Amino acid sequence: MVLKFLKTHYDKVKSALSRARSVLGNKIQSLFQGKIDEHLLEKLEQLLYEADFGVQTSLELTNKIRELHRQHPSFQTEDYVSALQNELLHLLNQYPPSFLVGEGKPQVVLIVGVNGNGKTTSVAKLAHLLKQEGQKVLLAAADTFRAAAIEQLETWAQRIQVEIVKGAPKSDPAAVTFDAVQAAKARQCDTLIIDTAGRLHTKINLMQELEKIKRSCQKVLPNSPHETLLVLDATTGQNAIDQANHFHRYVPLTGIILTKLDGTAKGGIVVAIQRELGIPVKFIGTGEGLEDLQPFDSKAFVSNLFE
Ligand code: GDP
Repeated sequence: MVLKFLKTHYDKVKSALSRARSVLGNKIQSLFQGKIDEHLLEKLEQLLYEADFGVQTSLELTNKIRELHRQHPSFQTEDYVSALQNELLHLLNQYPPSFLVGEGKPQVVLIVGVNGNGKTTSVAKLAHLLKQEGQKVLLAAADTFRAAAIEQLETWAQRIQVEIVKGAPKSDPAAVTFDAVQAAKARQCDTLIIDTAGRLHTKINLMQELEKIKRSCQKVLPNSPHETLLVLDATTGQNAIDQANHFHRYVPLTGIILTKLDGTAKGGIVVAIQRELGIPVKFIGTGEGLEDLQPFDSKAFVSNLFE
């Protein structure tokens, strides 16, 4: 079960990045049509920073262009753009987004994140994606804090025709998890995807709840969860990095699902998240529909950011 079977749809990535491309990509293209001097380089750094690449990456990319100009003063616009693309690819490829590479059934995927980021929708999209790969998928509704969350996941489960394990509202999410992992094992499912609560991430009791959910998984399957994915909203900028740092401290993350990339003109957050956290972005959300979850592909990302 390796991510390479999951195909990235370039057209979905392209349309999701259309805002980022028309703002960031076009501005960079036109910037490089001017004379490369310190003033232009300053503008480039500012542009990258405003597009959420983060301080360090914006500075490094600008230094790279400065260096290239020194070495190749005759470079043209397209040479600089492709140098920038190559550098971004190099940075992104340091975090290969492999997914569920382990052997054995069931594989357990724990999904965490703050409410509103697109967690439940992403659980459904991921289940749909894996089902299309021929997998037998089970869902667990471990956000027992909100009755509406259980109903929402049930509706998705019916739509994509996968089974679901749920508890009563306000029941112990760790107990629901324990039952779900046992059920996934007994029913010989390929993958179990667990939806969890996401009330304010600063609340210590949520983090304790997530740790307990994790221990429940381990009681049934010692090496699980095999993936712990944090759902982040790409439109929240630096805040997404703060959220990730917080979750990572309590439930070590194996990857990020970055949603709502279609709703931002600032594609740089993908690079900032990977570099500042050292955690790969494994999936991107490209819209509200079931088909709008794509395995992250650095080439598709970079080539669609500039054109
Ligand atoms: P949760 O509270 O984290 O479980 O969030 P939900 O799954 O309920 O999603 C919150 C809202 O974000 C819903 O309106 C979703 O349709 C929307 N949403 C989720 N992912 C994406 C995405 O990739 N793009 C867009 N445009 N909207 C999304």
